[in-house]
Amino acid sequence: MEFRDLKAQYLNNKTTIDNAIQSVLLSSHFIGGEPVKQLEEKLAEYVGVKHCITCANGTDALQLALMAWGIGENDAVFVPDFTFFSTAEVVSWVNAVPIFVDIERDTFNMSAHSLEEAIISVIKEGKLTPKAVIAVDLFGQPADFHAIQLIAQKYNILLLEDGAQGFGGSIEGKKACSFGDISTTSFFPAKPLGCYGDGGAIFTDNNDWAELIESYKVHGKGKDKYDNVRIGMNSRLDTIQAAVLLEKLKFFDEEIDACNKIAREYSQHLMNMVKVPVIGANIISSWAQYTICFRNNKEREYAIKTLADDNIPTAIYYRKPMHKQKAFQPQLYNNQDYIITENVCDCCLSLPMHAYLSMCDIQYITERIENAITSIKG
Ligand SMILES: *Cc1c(COP(=O)(O)O)cnc(C)c1O
Repeated sequence: MEFRDLKAQYLNNKTTIDNAIQSVLLSSHFIGGEPVKQLEEKLAEYVGVKHCITCANGTDALQLALMAWGIGENDAVFVPDFTFFSTAEVVSWVNAVPIFVDIERDTFNMSAHSLEEAIISVIKEGKLTPKAVIAVDLFGQPADFHAIQLIAQKYNILLLEDGAQGFGGSIEGKKACSFGDISTTSFFPAKPLGCYGDGGAIFTDNNDWAELIESYKVHGKGKDKYDNVRIGMNSRLDTIQAAVLLEKLKFFDEEIDACNKIAREYSQHLMNMVKVPVIGANIISSWAQYTICFRNNKEREYAIKTLADDNIPTAIYYRKPMHKQKAFQPQLYNNQDYIITENVCDCCLSLPMHAYLSMCDIQYITERIENAITSIKG
């Protein structure tokens, strides 16, 4: 059994994907060109925003957004304590300070209440200027944007949506990657919409930011890449990746539907044994991960071992909160506690989740979890 079965997905769509790659090889245009332009148009339309700018990966996408906003020294950027390292890494990379914010137990996403507390405390202290919040669509579920947008407006800070895991999800029919002033995603192979290498994209309705990002991603280009008007980076999506993504986009919604069906099946079996994921009303998750919580680390470790013995792969996203990462210790701004994040780090476990899992697989996995829990209790 695979944790995320990229091979089954490929074999199911082999002819069209092979042909798409072949046509790039025959064109011999490996950087830029028609497929990249087409993909950007298709993605902007899919999300429902004016501009989509592709780039080399999801981390660059976040960094480019912060660069376009001119965020730097003495600026505070609010980031969930429970996320992948990139979300906070880019803040330090542009010399600003990441301020970690606790999450909601039900959704694993940033707590709007803790966000407001963190902003107030930074303002009170008066050393840093609150500039932006990065809300993450963790495990596929869009963050609490109704509440977070209001707070961003109230304190006049910018909202960046890190939709690396959320692409394809929605709130009341409005798609993920449309909620930030700028939003970003990743096409890393295991993300909801993955390519066959690294890739990323940036979404915004703002013309000026879009133009700045187009420049920053190609060596700070002016008229062309040999006219350099600012210090930028080299962050482009390969043509082959764009061609693969154009094909995968055609069956993306079907896969999300399948994942939602699988998630419902998982939860039906598991809800009396462990804490199952809670998806808000009128919200659709793209199920980057299906993550349960055990009562404690001991129960979790026992379950991992039992499942591994039966060749069922699992993963812990994430074992360590951001505020405990060594890389952030020198500049740690620590005036909050992170009770929920720390508890979730000790108890969470992600199960196999992809559109090619069968109902038999789910039955098999959930039975093994039940066995593990029963035997640890007894
Ligand atoms: C994967 C991920 C990223 C980074 O994407 P890459 O394409 O790997 O650089 C950023 N944020 C979150 C929440 C992610 O899961």
